[in-house]
Amino acid sequence: MTSPRTAHCHDAVIVGAGFGGMGAAIELRRQGYDDLVILEREDDLGGTWHVNRYPGLAVDIPSSTYSYTFEPNPHWSRLFAPGPELKRYAVHVADKYDLRRHMRFDTVVEGAEWNEEESAWDVTIAGGEVVRGRFLLTATGFLSQPKLPDIPGVEDFAGVVMHTTRWDDDVELTGKRIGVIGTGATAVQLIPELAEVADHLTVYQRTPIYVSPKLDGPVPGVVRGAFAKVPLTQKATRLVGTSILEVLMVAGVLHFRDLPWANALGKRVCEAHLKRQVKDSELRAQLTPDYDFGCKRPTFSNTYYPTFTRPHVDLETTSIDHVDPGGIVTADGNRVDLDVLVLATGFNLWDVNFPAIRIVGREGRDLGRWWRDNRFCAYEGISVPKFPNFFSLNSPYSYSGLSYFTTIETQMAHLGRVLRTMRKRDAAVVEVTEDANEEFLVRMTGLLGNSVFNAGSCATARSYYFNQHGEAVLLRPTSTLSASREATRFPLDDYTYLPKEVATLSV
Ligand code: NAP
Repeated sequence: MTSPRTAHCHDAVIVGAGFGGMGAAIELRRQGYDDLVILEREDDLGGTWHVNRYPGLAVDIPSSTYSYTFEPNPHWSRLFAPGPELKRYAVHVADKYDLRRHMRFDTVVEGAEWNEEESAWDVTIAGGEVVRGRFLLTATGFLSQPKLPDIPGVEDFAGVVMHTTRWDDDVELTGKRIGVIGTGATAVQLIPELAEVADHLTVYQRTPIYVSPKLDGPVPGVVRGAFAKVPLTQKATRLVGTSILEVLMVAGVLHFRDLPWANALGKRVCEAHLKRQVKDSELRAQLTPDYDFGCKRPTFSNTYYPTFTRPHVDLETTSIDHVDPGGIVTADGNRVDLDVLVLATGFNLWDVNFPAIRIVGREGRDLGRWWRDNRFCAYEGISVPKFPNFFSLNSPYSYSGLSYFTTIETQMAHLGRVLRTMRKRDAAVVEVTEDANEEFLVRMTGLLGNSVFNAGSCATARSYYFNQHGEAVLLRPTSTLSASREATRFPLDDYTYLPKEVATLSV
């Protein structure tokens, strides 16, 4: 075990080797910091695209928008690229930007504590080792802590039980009786695939999801060639995709109060899609959400709804009473025998994430406790008062737009500006002020009032966007343009900049 007192101090410790962590590392390197360590609990890089390997996995927004803008990928095979291509892209980025040498895999971070004396973060790894860094950046993902359902008896099931994040390719699915719990975006991708091989498939739905038509298809070789040779063509395609997503998000979700017709349009598109694909009105009613469009993330699929019209597929909407060794028993006493039980039950964001590890800043402020005892907030979705030299990349109000890369690059810009200012002001320690954080929170709260989350009807959506205080603070309620503009223009004095000796004296 390395003692914190003798530990080498890296420029920065990054937790998470997904796209967020890699983006942070690229930005730190651009700013001249090369002594980085990226700690990753999994056995390889790629984050969600390494962990998720279930059949049907694909990006659920157009691929043209799903890459770093400075590292476009002309090789996506489809408009919505399959999951393995995303993983390959992550590997390509790590190799091209020489990030692997910073990465330590199978390394579970337990917590991090600000060391006043050293003006550095001491990051504790399972087993007791302490890694020290001048800066701490957490890129632990929003959807990284799998949620297991609180249904009695799941552990007694005698067949195979798999959460979608722990997919086991060796499990035989062909000819099996398969049960799926959950109908979120993951299940929408998975269910049609399982139906292809199962002897019988029973889907347990608690809350229906909005599904819109998917304008998908292979990207012809000639187009890929043009993207590779004339990058401007790919940029233009990206701009179109980003603009559509932006209009969807801003008009349909964030400006719900002002533009209710835009939200209604999204809802109608999904309902028309369902009507076209499912003729049975009873089944259609079961699949129709009773909350406003956008309360929870809608998704795209051309194969999800028709799957329920197949003779060997059942949609079960009666609530589950319990699981027993042989299958699932619903509240009406009906039991279905199963060989394989798939838990497409999503992720726990608000109990065990935010933050994913214990983080203790100045004056003993524990981030998780502070957020829960007060309100969830991070200035510009990235900084928190009393947490010096800390950038929390998966924070309340950080997710901007529908492509995660918009968020990543906005945060890279913010990070770069803070680091450049530190250098100009010869500072060793930077910390956002309480006032700036409070003002940001008040502004975001005001904007949320206009959104579907506050002004719409979301009570029955059971959306993971909402936290335990009933606030939808996951998404930043502004346009992505506004977010990225602020990343380069936020008032520099929203932070305090201290040389090391003053930072030590001031506490
Ligand atoms: P999710 O949207 O949270 O869906 C979880 C599902 O499990 C819901 O239908 C939920 O029902 C159900 N469930 C949870 N606990 C249950 C219980 N105890 N009993 C019965 N049902 C239960 O999770 P997800 O489908 O994994 O998707 C999460 C997010 O991942 C998506 O919104 C999307 O942003 C992202 N995603 C991205 C991609 C991609 O880009 N390729 C693919 C898939 C997912 P309730 O709604 O009633 O709680």
